[in-house]
Amino acid sequence: MPDALLIGYLEIVRASTGADEVVFWRTHAESDELVPGWWSTVHGGEPEHFVEQTWRSLVAWSVEENRPQAVGSAPALLVAAPIPGESGPVGALSISSEAGLPRGSEPHKTSITRYCAHLGPLYELIGARGQYHRATQQSSALLTAAQRFSANRNIDELGDSITTAALEMTAGYGAALVHWNRDAEAGEVVYSTPDARAVPGLELDSRGQVARACSADIPVVMDDARRLAAPAVLFGDGERSPRLGSLGILPLRGDAGVIGAIVIEGRAPGDVSQADAKNLRLLALLAGSSLQTVWEIEEITRRARTDPLTGLYNRGHFQDRLQQMIAETGRFGGQSSLVMFDIDHFKNVNDTHGHQAGDAVLRAIARLLQEWVRDVDTCARYGGEELALLLPRTELDGAVELANRLRLVVMEHTVRWTGGSARVTISGGVAAFPASARSVEALIAAADAALYRAKADGRNRVNAAEAISGPARA
Ligand code: GH3
Ligand code: MG
Ligand code: MG
Repeated sequence: MPDALLIGYLEIVRASTGADEVVFWRTHAESDELVPGWWSTVHGGEPEHFVEQTWRSLVAWSVEENRPQAVGSAPALLVAAPIPGESGPVGALSISSEAGLPRGSEPHKTSITRYCAHLGPLYELIGARGQYHRATQQSSALLTAAQRFSANRNIDELGDSITTAALEMTAGYGAALVHWNRDAEAGEVVYSTPDARAVPGLELDSRGQVARACSADIPVVMDDARRLAAPAVLFGDGERSPRLGSLGILPLRGDAGVIGAIVIEGRAPGDVSQADAKNLRLLALLAGSSLQTVWEIEEITRRARTDPLTGLYNRGHFQDRLQQMIAETGRFGGQSSLVMFDIDHFKNVNDTHGHQAGDAVLRAIARLLQEWVRDVDTCARYGGEELALLLPRTELDGAVELANRLRLVVMEHTVRWTGGSARVTISGGVAAFPASARSVEALIAAADAALYRAKADGRNRVNAAEAISGPARA
C-alpha cells in the first residue's frame, strides 16, 4: 500500500510532464548511493534509460547542490531535483525521455520542483503511518488530495478539494481557504464549505486568529477552542459565530512565504486535534504548492485578456463577451446594447503634448468609464483609442442615455500628468441587439456606423443606430 501511494503519484507526474520514465531515487542503505526506489515507466517495466552511472551522478549532484539539474535544454532529456524532507533531502526525482521531453529544461525544472514538494511529505507520511489513530483514513485522504490538487485548474476546484480533504482528515464541520497577501499583510476568504463561519469575499481582520497565524507563519491547532475569548474573531467583520469547540489554522506556503491558509472549525473539543497536526501539516504542504500553481495560471489567464495600458479587457476578450451577451439575449429575450467610443482629435493630443500624455489621457478615460458603468457591464479597449461598452439587458434608449452621461463626464474631466493637463471629448455610436442588428458582426458594424455619423456631425456627441424590422435571430 505505501508503494501504491508513491507510484500513484509518480504516474501523475509522468502523465503531466510527458516523460517516458519517472524515477524516485532513494539512498541505498549500504552503499549510500542513490538507487531507483519507485518508478513509473511508459512501458510498465523497470526504468531502462538514464539509470547508468553517468546519469546517476547527475541525479546525485542535484541532491548535493540541492537544486534541479538537467541534461539537454531544448528539448531536455533528463531533469532531476532533490525531494525535500523535514531534515534535508530524502532522495531525488528524475523525469526523462529518450526522444526528448516536450518542453525545454527551465519549465521542467520549475514543475519538477513542485512535484518534489508534494513527494517529500508523501514519503514521510509513509514513514509516519500507523503512529496516529486516524492514519489510514488520513493517508488515503492525502493521496486523493494530492491527485485532485494536480488536476485542479481554478480556485473553486482547488478550494473544494482542499476543504474536502481537511474535513475528511478531521472531525471538523466547516473549512475555509484563505488568500493571504504578504506585502499588504491582508487576506480574504476565497472558498468555504456551507457551514463554515465565513463566506468567500470576507476580508480578514488583522486582529483575528487567521490573520495573525498567516502573518506570523505559525500553524494553530487548538484541541479545545472554547477558551478563546468570546466573541472570538476568527476571520473578521461579518463572520457567523457558531460555538467553536476546536480549531485548526494552517498557513500555506508558496515559493516566497505565506500565500494563504486552511481554516478548520470543529464543533466539539478534539474534533480537530493535535493528533491530526502532523498530517494536516502535510496537507498544508501539498495545498501550498498547488495553490501557487493555480494562482499563477489565473494570473496568466487574467493577463491574456487584459490590455496592459488601460487595464480594460482587450479586444479578444471583448469579442468573447459580446458573443456570450448576444447568445444569452437571443435565448432569454430582451435587448442588449453595444457602445463604441472614439476619442475626438486624439492625434492632436499626441502631437501637442507627446505620446506619454496621450497614454495618460487614454488611461484616465478608461478609468472614468469603468467607474461609471454597472458591474454587469463590460468595458474594453477595442482598438488604439476606441473603447467599447457591452451593456447586457439594456435597451437602445437606456444605452444612449448612459453613453451621453459618460460623454459629459469625460468632457468635464481634466486629465493631468506630470508637466501638463488637457481636456478631451469623445464621440459614441450605440446599437442594440436585436433592435438594430441581428448578428455579432452586424451589431459592431451598426455601432461603428453610428459613431462615424457622430464624428461627421461635429464630434462630442452620441448617435444611435437605426432600428431594423423583421423577425429576431441570434
Ligand atoms: P477623430 O477620431 O476625432 O476623427 O480624430 P483622431 O485624431 O482621434 O483620429 P485618428 O483615429 O486618425 O487618430 C487616432 C490616433 O490615436 C492615432 C494614434 O497615434 C493614436 N493612438 C492610438 N493608440 C494609442 C496609444 O496607445 N497611445 C497613444 N498615445 N496614442 C495612440
Ligand atoms: Mg479618434
Ligand atoms: Mg480612432
